[in-house]
Amino acid sequence: MSHRAKALIITCMDFRFQDAIHDFSRELRIEGSYDLLTVPGVAKNLSRPDDQNTKNYLLDSIEKSFRLHEIARVIIINHQNCGGYEEFDNEASEKVQHYADLKKAAKIIQDIFPDLKIKLYFANLKEKGNEREIEFEEVK
Ligand SMILES: [Zn+2]
Repeated sequence: MSHRAKALIITCMDFRFQDAIHDFSRELRIEGSYDLLTVPGVAKNLSRPDDQNTKNYLLDSIEKSFRLHEIARVIIINHQNCGGYEEFDNEASEKVQHYADLKKAAKIIQDIFPDLKIKLYFANLKEKGNEREIEFEEVK
């Protein structure tokens, strides 16, 4: 029996973002209908991979999601203050690097899966004690 998902979300394993990403899936109208792939560093694993295994694992998983669940969209969400990334001098340079990685990752996926729609987001994080504020910004 076929079971379709609307999208595949690729994001970081970081616990601080999971509730917000779930809420965001509602906003994207894919709640309850998305595959989820988590890996530290997200887009960097495709754009500037430390090892080819993780890159291949990601591409292989996208292919499975596409083939088995007939997804139409891939949503890649990188985030601020990511442990999978290098240290940055300031927020501006951090954002520049994430944007570049997201765009390059999208191109790599698009070249292999021309039928998929790809949406990119950067999650901004503000932490005050135990309070967390997360804002998703679309990367175009
Ligand atoms: Zn992370």
